[in-house]
Amino acid sequence: MVADLAVRNVKILDGTGGPQRDGDVAVEGDRIVAVGELGTAVVGPSTETIDGNGSCLSPGFVDVHTHDDGALLRHPDMAFKLAQGCTSVVIGNCGFSAAPARPGEADPSGLIGVRPTWSDLAGFAEAVADARPAVNAVALIGHNSIRRLVMGDERREPTGPELAEMAGHVALAMDQGACGLSTGLIYEPGRYSATDEVIALARESSAGGGIYASHIRNEADRLLDAIDEAITIGREADLAVQISHHKAAGRRNWGKVAESLARIDEANAAGADITLDVYPYTAGSGPMAQYFDVDRIDPELAAVIRFASCPAFRHYEGRMAVDVAAEQGVSAVDVIRQVLTAPEGDRTICIQFIIDEADIETNLQHPLMMIGSDGVVDLRGQPHPRLFGTFPRILAHYVRDRGILTLEEAVHRMTDLSCRRFGLVDRGVVREGALADLVLFDPDRVTDTATYDDPKQEPVGIDAVVVNGRIAYRSGVHTGVGAGRMLHHGRSSS
Ligand SMILES: [Zn+2]
Repeated sequence: MVADLAVRNVKILDGTGGPQRDGDVAVEGDRIVAVGELGTAVVGPSTETIDGNGSCLSPGFVDVHTHDDGALLRHPDMAFKLAQGCTSVVIGNCGFSAAPARPGEADPSGLIGVRPTWSDLAGFAEAVADARPAVNAVALIGHNSIRRLVMGDERREPTGPELAEMAGHVALAMDQGACGLSTGLIYEPGRYSATDEVIALARESSAGGGIYASHIRNEADRLLDAIDEAITIGREADLAVQISHHKAAGRRNWGKVAESLARIDEANAAGADITLDVYPYTAGSGPMAQYFDVDRIDPELAAVIRFASCPAFRHYEGRMAVDVAAEQGVSAVDVIRQVLTAPEGDRTICIQFIIDEADIETNLQHPLMMIGSDGVVDLRGQPHPRLFGTFPRILAHYVRDRGILTLEEAVHRMTDLSCRRFGLVDRGVVREGALADLVLFDPDRVTDTATYDDPKQEPVGIDAVVVNGRIAYRSGVHTGVGAGRMLHHGRSSS
């Protein structure tokens, strides 16, 4: 046996959270074949060798909270993820998934950005395979997408046949490899569903071995009620729960994440199986029309809005609503109304500064907290910097500068823990026989460089990224190898 690739002279962080150790790693085909001191039998003249110079080698990072469904087709180089060391992404979050869909019908959510040629997850997976993306993906099936497909924007409970049709979509997606059901109960049309509807659909995920991932019904004044609802859904449908981008939104709610985490700990102690993710920034981002009632615009929220993508007024992109307002001699509320009521105003993606920095650190101290970027992929605008910087920011700011968690722990929660939760088999660990998704990075140098003012910047200190055994990124160069795969929940792939 002679390896195709050897990464030598590295500190191995194997993903389990155990201490790093010096060694080498060898890869043959798409699998890791040796870890530790490599003998001459493993490394031959045909082996491509990377000298790690004492840097860290870990499993590739898994972005557990993305809206990359459409990006896999629109930007198959996935440069903004790969450059962070991400080798897999979980798509279909917050209740919005590319599948199921009606072929040819424009994506109503604005988050996918591709006109579907598919009707179900298998069809979407084929389209992704044809696009040869740079990273792997596993799909959640989105409640908002299903509900809209079956019931449109009806503000009522589903009829029996409608609920059965929705359940059928979940069951089919589970058969076709989905890792679970996602909801965005704050968004249209998911917000019109009662808890029972979600429980019924979550049961289909449970039957298929999947999880329930939720952008919960309220992340502000009624955060704790919303956490209780997620706990209830997990219990009634008998499945694991992922609380997405855990936060307490709005100044008067800051600090509440501690109570919310305590409630989750309590539920877990009583037999629940609840985990979470967080993005390391004090601003959220998403479709602006979803956050405002145009007839009753919340001035407090208007005051902390920045425009990421604004097709109606491109020159607002990258600016705070209050600054645009000052220039025009009007209020921020007026500017928000002006944008929302303009043609294509509903396509606006905003950034909202609603989170307390201390809450991010509280979140990161929790052992069941994974990392998800929640980036919204519109590269024409001025996106939230989390799209380019999330994973390096954890390593640079929260591990190296702030000491909130150890390097081993951070890597564990970006790799092994995430893969176990989302059903990525044989990934997330550096060990013989595992699939070779790897990242080589310098823990002293790694830094996110994306900022709100200049968000489309790739980080530094990520030296090489290997996806399914192929070098996808090295020394700032994207190789264009396109070795990513659509993954089937619970199945190893090769
Ligand atoms: Zn969300």
